[in-house]
Amino acid sequence: MSKRVDHIILTVDYEIFGNGTGSLNNCLISPTNRILNIAESYNAPVTLFVEMLEFYSMKREWFNGQSDMALQIASVEQQICNAVMRGHDAQLHLHPQWIGSKHLKNGLWQLDNSRWRIGDLSSSEVKKILVFGKTALEDILNPIIPQYRCKVFRAGAWCIQPSYHIIRCLMELGFKIDSSVAPSLFNRASGDWFDFRAAPNNLGWWHVSNDVCSVATSGLVEVPIAVSRISKTEHFFEFLVKKKIDRFALNCNGYYGGPNDFLQKLISKISKFLKLGLSMLDFSSLNAKILIEIVKKWRADKSSPSSSLPIVAIAHAKNFSSTAAKEFLKFLEWVSRQPDLIFSTYEKWMKSQNILSTKDFK
Ligand SMILES: [Zn+2]
Repeated sequence: MSKRVDHIILTVDYEIFGNGTGSLNNCLISPTNRILNIAESYNAPVTLFVEMLEFYSMKREWFNGQSDMALQIASVEQQICNAVMRGHDAQLHLHPQWIGSKHLKNGLWQLDNSRWRIGDLSSSEVKKILVFGKTALEDILNPIIPQYRCKVFRAGAWCIQPSYHIIRCLMELGFKIDSSVAPSLFNRASGDWFDFRAAPNNLGWWHVSNDVCSVATSGLVEVPIAVSRISKTEHFFEFLVKKKIDRFALNCNGYYGGPNDFLQKLISKISKFLKLGLSMLDFSSLNAKILIEIVKKWRADKSSPSSSLPIVAIAHAKNFSSTAAKEFLKFLEWVSRQPDLIFSTYEKWMKSQNILSTKDFK
């Protein structure tokens, strides 16, 4: 029997801050270029999860106004096209708080925090933004890559629950994969809650039809973000101490905001503390040693002896600091030396599993 070869899928949530702060050049375009260049030095494709609602808002507000902003948004579209032309992938990510947004001044936005969670939207609103996002992304890419189709989704801030309507709609629109679930993790704050503690821990992927955490016999494929237990002390130091010093990409100035009031913010902080020691495979936040440890544990925990395991890593362009760049390089170097790991995309992994034919991904 040939040895199992697992697929490392590097993903980047391609967006500015959730409250609309942060410049496109410094928080998105420059750090993404850095990620793509480093990845290319190891022939590793990167999947950009493009947040189409914010780019649509910027285009609408800026194309007729500030020309420097219009140029920046054109650069975003150019970067997405160039990336896919160079062998990377682009798929859909949505933050519904941008629905009906208004540009106030100097890059500050009025957003609708009551729509922070896609899981809270009505089924008709979910359908509207999924149709919009898929079509808009395909419209950017099809002039240069006519066969490109958007087939993978990740919910903004992982807020995909309750997921029944979203799964139904994704399937209806021809999506093949959701990649929002981070098994074992949860956030109890009401404005941006998610709870993946019921997701299977022993599976690398599963079918879903009603709920992203429940295994179905057929339907959409859930390819979760890799999560493993690491030392609480190391996690505390890396994530909560070191990241306070070197937290953002070079010259990226923005700040986190969100839908939670003071009490809910406190609840969110307590959730973070309770799950200390459980971490996503996040290459914009963790050092190479921890990233390697997460990959090893994730693989060891999965009961899939023969078929290839997808190992999804996540990053945010705005958090890709100089330290993160150095650690990412070390991590890629380690992966490239493992005979039973390859760099991959969702499509390449699915085709390797015979879950889909080539035709299905077009
Ligand atoms: Zn996001």
